[in-house]
Amino acid sequence: MSKIRGVFFPLVLCLSLLAGACGGNDNPAIEGQPGGSESQEAPEFEEGTTMAAIQQRGSLKVGTKFDQPLFGLKNPVTNDIEGFDVEIAKIIAQEIFGGTREEAAEKIEFIETVSAVREAEIQKGSVDIIVATYTINDARKALVDFAGPYFIAGQDIMVERDNNDIKGVQDLNGKKVCSAQGSTSLKNVQEQAPQADTSISFERYSDCATALRDGRVDAVTTDNVILLGLVKDNPNDFKVVENTFTEEPYGIGLKKGDQAFRDFLNDTLEESYQNGSWEEAFNATVGEAGVEAPEPPDVDPYPSTGEASPAPTPTVTGTAGASPSPTGTASPTASPTS
Ligand code: GLU
Repeated sequence: MSKIRGVFFPLVLCLSLLAGACGGNDNPAIEGQPGGSESQEAPEFEEGTTMAAIQQRGSLKVGTKFDQPLFGLKNPVTNDIEGFDVEIAKIIAQEIFGGTREEAAEKIEFIETVSAVREAEIQKGSVDIIVATYTINDARKALVDFAGPYFIAGQDIMVERDNNDIKGVQDLNGKKVCSAQGSTSLKNVQEQAPQADTSISFERYSDCATALRDGRVDAVTTDNVILLGLVKDNPNDFKVVENTFTEEPYGIGLKKGDQAFRDFLNDTLEESYQNGSWEEAFNATVGEAGVEAPEPPDVDPYPSTGEASPAPTPTVTGTAGASPSPTGTASPTASPTS
């Protein structure tokens, strides 16, 4: 079992969830429909704040992932965007617009933001917030600000189910390892397993999973909970080695220097910890894969410098050896700040 911040993480062990043997959600009332059914009054925000502007506009623009089961996934059948990050965004929307959680959710415009473009999208103003398995770190804090953290993940490795050679990050030396461009995952593996061949990388982790299935790579590395979602969809093909080697605190990204908005987001997170909506959201999403809800982490209201460095310019290189993504689009390189 891997342990995150003192919390047991029964990851793939709970693939016995196939038999329904484990699962964090004992409350049928919240299954698939996390809380917030009570209507709230819309709050009055101070004129000139981001919250007031979003409320007046009547829509909250949220950057998230569309290919990560459990956190941010565009359901291919319903086209709904689902997952824990999505539920966090809905909790925020309800605090801005009032009404029920469902009514507030209708006012969210979800925009797909792959790992490499998150800072640039915030800086351009094309999103109000990013909730997208987004690790808080100093390099990113030079460009954007973060509320949270609201979850702590750890980087792990996914291999084919019958692979018993790769048990930890050191075993990746000499192996072909796929990760997403612009992620901390790619940077961490390059640092901790410098002989790993990382020449195959993609914008999305789902493309790495395809490369693993095709035998183009030996392993995929990123946060354990992202890998868990990929394994959940392919339990006969893949497994997570369950040997984390980093700590990844997930934050809500926002424009640098917007202190009032950051305070509001941090307060909203803290309130969700206290009133149980964070736990409900977790249980209805990640919990469905058999992961027990951990204690939510303390938010970190660090002092922001307020001044953003210039936006990174994504360029198209650095994917030597990579097969093109299924969309055929060129992939931006990892932002130098990942
Ligand atoms: N949490 C890591 C990051 O923000 C990896 C997951 C991702 O790429 O979204 O870079």
